[in-house]
Formats: sequence, C-alpha cells, structure tokens
Amino acid sequence: METLLEVVELSKSFGGVKAVNGLSFRLERGELLAMIGPNGAGKSTCFNLINGQLRPDGGSIRILGRETTGLRPRQVWSLGVGRTFQVTSTFPSMTVLENIQMVLLSAKRRLNSVTKTVSRLYRDEAMELLKLVGVENQWNRTCGILAYGELKRVELAMALANDPVILLMDEPTAGMGVKERLKLMELTSRIVKSRSIGVLFTEHDMDVVFAHADRIMVLNYGSLIAEGTPQEVRDNQEVKQIYLGTCETGGA
Ligand code: ADP
Ligand code: MG
Repeated sequence: METLLEVVELSKSFGGVKAVNGLSFRLERGELLAMIGPNGAGKSTCFNLINGQLRPDGGSIRILGRETTGLRPRQVWSLGVGRTFQVTSTFPSMTVLENIQMVLLSAKRRLNSVTKTVSRLYRDEAMELLKLVGVENQWNRTCGILAYGELKRVELAMALANDPVILLMDEPTAGMGVKERLKLMELTSRIVKSRSIGVLFTEHDMDVVFAHADRIMVLNYGSLIAEGTPQEVRDNQEVKQIYLGTCETGGA
C-alpha cells in the first residue's frame, strides 16, 4: 500500500472553538475513506485545511510524502488533489463540454492561450471524462439547465480533469435522491479502483457510507473517536451512542 495523504496532529480553532483538534490519519492508494460525524464535528474544516483554503494552527499535511502544510489551494491542486464541492461550481452558461475543457486547459497551464480555438482544445479528453461519469449525451447542453444529478456528475468529471491522485469530496451526494446517491458513489468507487487513486469523502447518508467506504473515520468535536472497517465502526459503542436513532439524518 502507498500512503497518498498523511495528516499528523492537525489543529484549527475559530475563536474558542477547536474545530479540528489534533487529528491524525492516512489515506492509502485505492481507498475510499469516509469521514463521518455530527454537524460541526470539523469535517469541512479538515477538508479546507487539506486543500489549502485554511491554514492550520498546528500539525502537518503530507501529500505523496511531500509537506504541503501552508500551500495555497492552487498549489495543492497542481500536486494532484481534486475536489468536488457541496455547492455546485460549474459555469451555468457554458456547455457541459466547455466546462470540462476549461479545467483541462487550466490543468495543462494553457489558460493564457484561451482563443477562438478553445472549442477544439482537449475536446476528446473532455468527452472521455464525460463518458467516464456517464453524461456524454449531455455534452452540448449548458450546465444551467442540467438536472441536479447530472450536474454532480459533471463536477466529478471536472475534479478528475486534473488527473488527481487524491479526490476530496465534501458531501458529494447532498441534495440527491436515494437511488442517485448510491449510483454516484458506486461510480466513484469504480473510478477509485480503476484509476488507483484515493478518495476522502463526507456523507450524511449512512447507507451510502456503509455500502461504499473501505474504511470509516468518525469525528466528534474535531477529534477522531473511532476508525476502522464499516463493520468495526458499526459495532463501536461510542459511535452507536452518537448516532443512536439519528443514523439517517444526524451526521451531515
Ligand atoms: P462539519 O463540516 O463537520 O459540519 P465544520 O468543519 O463546518 O463541521 O465546523 C466545525 C466547527 O467549526 C463548528 O463549530 C463551526 O461552527 C466552526 N467553524 C467552521 N468554520 C468556521 C469559520 N469560518 N468561522 C468560525 N467558526 C467556524
Ligand atoms: Mg461540513
């Protein structure tokens, strides 16, 4: 196994609130790692620290063995960390294909050369990505008119355009119906295995988490309280207490 991401004693406070409190964990290649925990547990803060949007107060982050603590989001992204957002982030007036082409252009550092020829640049690669996530038949529609589930798939394709080794997905299925959710995570799981990357994701639907995660971390008040296989986490007493009776809705 190869460690893609190593987080050591990571901490971040907002005023008096210890949002992330001495958190340590690893993400291995080929792994779908879920981070769960009640609202306010520190999940999004942790993602924002890893991708460079926030600076930690303490601790370190290593990506493929390289110290990345304090790097800017763009630098972290260029090292191969893709990200999907809870709030959709496509350009609504551009077509599905153009959205993917824009990311490919940026990833290949040709954004300065945006000219009339853009429509031809990386067209095949963009179509390949759309096929991978199953929305190739939507390529010529503008993102603004897509169904929500389709938009989420386009965003996944955008996150993959940089050919990341690590994908951070903060509530990727928020706002989706039950069937769509499971399908999207099935797809994600297949991509993780076929491309041999690693995914760290948060998710409030425990059915999705237990069906697809290889390993689960449970956060509470910024600290790791349990970690293990879905079965191990399901049997953990402390986790049971936190989630008792709130499995369906309490973990967002
Ligand atoms: P989660 O994603 O698990 O719901 P968050 O990481 O969003 O949790 O929040 C963790 C804690 O940090 C919460 O108490 C939240 O109110 C606080 N927090 C998060 N972001 C900020 C911020 N920018 N300013 C102040 N407090 C914040
Ligand atoms: Mg959150």
